[in-house]
Amino acid sequence: MTASNIIIEVGGLTRTFTVGDVDVRALRGVNLSIERGEFVAIMGASGSGKSTLMAILGCLDSQTGGRYFFGGLDVSALHEPQLAKLRREKLGFVFQSFNLLARTSAIENVALPLFYSDEAIEGAQRLERARAALELLGLGDRAQNTPAQLSGGQQQRVAIARALINGPSVLFADEPTGNLDTKTSHEIMESLLSLNRDQSLTVIVVTHEPDIAAYAGRVITMRDGQIVSDERRASPAPSRPPTPQQKEASAAMTIFHSSRPAKGALAQVSTLAFASMIVTAAVQAIARNKLRSALTMLGVFIGVAALIAMVAVGNGANAAVRKQIESLGTNLVVVLPGAVLTGGARSGFGSASTLTVADAQAIRREAPEVGLVAYLMRQMGQVQLRNQNWTTNIQAVSLNYPPVTNWRIAEGRGIGADDERSGALVVVIGHTVYKQLFARGENPLGTTILVKGSPLRVVGVLATKGQSMWGQDQDDLVMIPFKTGERKVLGVAAPNQPTNLTSLYPPPPNPFNLQPRLTGYVNSIYVQATAQTRIPAAIDDINRILMRRHRIRPTDIKDFDIRNLSQIAETAEGSSKVMAVLLAIVASISLLVGGIGIMNILLVSVTERTREIGLRMAVGAQRLHVLTQFLAEAVLISVSGGLAGIAAGVAISEIIAIFSAWSSPVSLVAIAIGFVFSVAVGVFFGYYPARKAAQLDPIQALRYE
Ligand code: ADP
Ligand code: MG
Repeated sequence: MTASNIIIEVGGLTRTFTVGDVDVRALRGVNLSIERGEFVAIMGASGSGKSTLMAILGCLDSQTGGRYFFGGLDVSALHEPQLAKLRREKLGFVFQSFNLLARTSAIENVALPLFYSDEAIEGAQRLERARAALELLGLGDRAQNTPAQLSGGQQQRVAIARALINGPSVLFADEPTGNLDTKTSHEIMESLLSLNRDQSLTVIVVTHEPDIAAYAGRVITMRDGQIVSDERRASPAPSRPPTPQQKEASAAMTIFHSSRPAKGALAQVSTLAFASMIVTAAVQAIARNKLRSALTMLGVFIGVAALIAMVAVGNGANAAVRKQIESLGTNLVVVLPGAVLTGGARSGFGSASTLTVADAQAIRREAPEVGLVAYLMRQMGQVQLRNQNWTTNIQAVSLNYPPVTNWRIAEGRGIGADDERSGALVVVIGHTVYKQLFARGENPLGTTILVKGSPLRVVGVLATKGQSMWGQDQDDLVMIPFKTGERKVLGVAAPNQPTNLTSLYPPPPNPFNLQPRLTGYVNSIYVQATAQTRIPAAIDDINRILMRRHRIRPTDIKDFDIRNLSQIAETAEGSSKVMAVLLAIVASISLLVGGIGIMNILLVSVTERTREIGLRMAVGAQRLHVLTQFLAEAVLISVSGGLAGIAAGVAISEIIAIFSAWSSPVSLVAIAIGFVFSVAVGVFFGYYPARKAAQLDPIQALRYE
């Protein structure tokens, strides 16, 4: 025997456990070397240190002192990923309690170590290999059975097949027959013996039963953490020759193992297989606890739903406000007649006659920040056609009033320059007036209607604007040329006299009584600023011009009132903003609570699955693999909740849209943000439990009760 044939060599190996203040010296200087192809049994009383020695030899635990060389490699110099690599490529483990994954088929259990393999192994090849390993252990026909459907002996053979799948150099078995009856125990030992012979596998078995140890060619006895005897002898030949299937499987296994890339060859990591395993494992973990997972998703679900609804509400409100501003006209400032003292009583804004066409013209002429200036005179009055009549808002408007306030013509034509010049008897009607006077579908153009008793010909119908933000019907009006209104249709109030008093105090009788007196008074002046940012400057200009023209001193009460229409519209945004803020709070709190829920459940899951984690590490999973697996589970829970939340959020937005009469722009950006948030919550709150799982000590995790 040459030195190169030695696979395991330890010298002066010690292991001390510190429990509270007490040091338990489980190993007190073990010297041992094992050659390739040996079949070794380790015996000794309970507590003599057998399992401790096995765990160190199997790289599941590390020694306190002494040296350990595996195949000439100094194991104590290796770091975690290299130890994991050593476990998955060179070492196989069989435990007393079989440590199979529950609710997972035998073949999937056997294939488990391949997920962590550095070779790229396709799914089909993986299962083929697992089948060969099962075949080798005489379990070819039980591949689809779950552990619960197998006897103890069969389960242990599945575990042995799993230990063999990566073609290890050494198989460690710590009391593999401890949970089995005598007959089954011997069958297991026969299997191990033939593996030792046929596959020239080094086998190290811990047992305290002499008839089990009798299968080994070498029996080591331990007492109090030391080796007290080491005997070699001829081991018996297997009593049962291998079946033809077993022979075939054995050959297949040998081919698999000889086809693995040579050491040092560039190994391609089987990322894809690992990724699919991780997703499958996460789905299985969630499916195993459906209710628990669903409840865990709830927080993220509500959070994402609220987030999407919030964005939709915000967008809807913005769109509504934009539409309102649009319907008012852009960059508009409106000047209304102000409070005027009438016999000591102040009347309300807009009720007095203080503004004139001349004021409007002065503003147009003198204010540098002003573009268009429109004005109108308005009165409530009756319109009549045949036996239909309707009280509406009669507006005598300047030519540029409709364009400045964004009134459009739906049918016919608008008021033209000729109409204004001649004071033509024409009228443009709003949609509500059309509906009140005309039959459905009737063409109103060319029809003559009575407006405050004057016969006017309908030349156009205005496009609808709908309700104003104060709920007024903006379409309930008729428009006539300003001159027509002033001279022929609307009676004119005396200067500085409230219009609502006109009927009580009629104007002085007109000596010729031919037509109403022309006073040039208007009810409002619409001033368009040159730009949104110039509105304040325009307001200053208007104020200055009107103060001068009306001879108002700075201390006097003004007889006019200037209002910024865009600003008024923007205040309507306020209520929708409150709603959006509330939803944002709900969304963030839910996401936070949802995240904490995920973390909590995952911590429980890590505890529940401690042994599974230990097993995965024993078959070669690196800490990084375990971390990724639990992180994937967290993200899957979170994303499932997030996707459901997106669906609910869209539904909520639609419902809000129906009840608020807003358009509901469900934004793709919001959906994307919702998705990203759910992933982020999963990663952020899943990281701590996943790290906790990854930092478990393999041997302690395996022993966890
Ligand atoms: P065996 O497998 O031979 O029955 P072990 O190797 O399991 O014995 O244990 C050897 C000694 O080390 C025992 O006294 C046991 O109590 C102690 N021991 C083993 N593992 C631990 C541990 N994780 N913490 C503290 N003491 C331990
Ligand atoms: Mg033990």
